Amino acid sequence: AGTLYIVPTPIGNLGDLSPRAQQVLSSVAAIAAEDTRHSRQLLQQFAIQNDVFTLHEHNERERASRVIERLSSGDDIALISDAGTPLISDPGYVLVQQCRAAGVRVVALPGPCAITTALSAAGLPTDRFTFEGFLPAKPQQRRKTLTSLLDEPRTMVFYESPHRILHTLNDLQAVMGSERALVIGRELTKQFETYLSGTVAEVLQQVEADSNQQRGEFVVMLAGAPVQASGGDEQAALRTVLLLRNHLP
Ligand code: SAM
Repeated sequence: AGTLYIVPTPIGNLGDLSPRAQQVLSSVAAIAAEDTRHSRQLLQQFAIQNDVFTLHEHNERERASRVIERLSSGDDIALISDAGTPLISDPGYVLVQQCRAAGVRVVALPGPCAITTALSAAGLPTDRFTFEGFLPAKPQQRRKTLTSLLDEPRTMVFYESPHRILHTLNDLQAVMGSERALVIGRELTKQFETYLSGTVAEVLQQVEADSNQQRGEFVVMLAGAPVQASGGDEQAALRTVLLLRNHLP
């Protein structure tokens, strides 16, 4: 049986398509892509001539069974999305889930992804983080989601589009307050790559003041809620007592 390859593509800089990704995209029987026109352009730049067919959120369920038939008959297939890693706020979940259920081998290549790119340069804690994808488009839902994250101690990572960046930053300030540390990565790996950092209020001010900062693609990263000091003190005191007890006659 064939293998389904999950192949990340550049999020802006063509130099980020790995040699291994190029090799897999050239050698598979066909490539499933979110937008065939967009992906053919990318493949053309690397002189990769291969069959490309669509697999996007509206036809994924129906396409998945056909793809699994091809895989079962021995074809290798690659899955790509418009940019970055498939399945990360992109199609592919249904296909991978069904491949696993059918016993089809799935191999993922590591590669470009806006989350790890932004987070590794942000200067916020990265030992633990939570990826929240896109916040809901409706204001009420958006604020509700943010409210549910109020006590989240891990760094939070959001994806955002130019249409909603200001709304999201305003809601972040309304719900989380103005003092938390916030970093925005914009147009990563592209010509106008920018990081803005500071408190929520400071970053909001910078974005509001400069319309250029409202253009492009964004990763928004918010520091987690400060861990309550009182509970920590009690824990530390208890540990000291237990330790001392071991050393007392
Ligand atoms: N699969 C992609 C990945 O691996 O990052 C994400 C796809 S999602 C539909 C698109 C969103 O990812 C954008 O709205 C933005 O939040 C983020 N993104 C993608 N490329 C980016 C870039 N070059 N700079 C900043 N954010 C980016």
